Amino acid sequence: MIDTYRHKGMRKNMLDELRQKGIKNKKVLEAMDKVPRHWFLDQAFLEIAYENKAFPIGCEQTISHPFTVARQSELLNIKKGEKVLEIGTGCGYQTSILFFLGAKVFSVERQKELYVKTKKMLSELRLRIHLKYGDGYKGLPTFGPFEKIIVTAGAPIIPKPLLEQLAVGGRLVIPVGKGKQIMTVIDKVSENEFNKQELGEFSFVPMLEKKV
Ligand code: SAH
Repeated sequence: MIDTYRHKGMRKNMLDELRQKGIKNKKVLEAMDKVPRHWFLDQAFLEIAYENKAFPIGCEQTISHPFTVARQSELLNIKKGEKVLEIGTGCGYQTSILFFLGAKVFSVERQKELYVKTKKMLSELRLRIHLKYGDGYKGLPTFGPFEKIIVTAGAPIIPKPLLEQLAVGGRLVIPVGKGKQIMTVIDKVSENEFNKQELGEFSFVPMLEKKV
């Protein structure tokens, strides 16, 4: 996979745009500088891969906007070595950013085709990430608790298993709602006490419920 000066330049412009839109976290910006977004997209998007847009990645799914990736990553506030669960691996772009933020990443994808494609891609990149094919509503009980959980699809409800699998002191970042979503941050204060913040409107593809 090739990362030309031209792509590096486009990435710098993307980072400037993110700063202008209010992304301040240096570690997040550094991680987004390290991961070439165009590697995660089809050749057809090579020239526009760094625009603040969602592009199709197959199976009627889309890669998240760079701003959304930056904002969710910033809200997660990952510390090196933390165990992070991602729901919705998709093309693996956000997944790779979590890895470069120093997290021990577990990611669940509901679409078999995307799971297989992304698993191959991330292993070619030699990124040690635990990818699972399954239903994100259930989380990954055998691997929890997680210090941080991120959901990258629009969730009609907050799945209870995710709250259960969150470590005390941990944080869940999840876009909640049908149609448009409200970015919701939930901090687990004690085993059954949670603090909730709602942080503006975003637009995600829906989290699939009863997929056959
Ligand atoms: N963050 C990724 C994907 C965003 S799209 C990226 O930027 O590429 C949302 C992803 O969530 C899609 O890949 C979709 O298939 C997946 N998804 C939807 N419902 C899910 C569920 N119940 N469990 C796990 N993944 C799910």
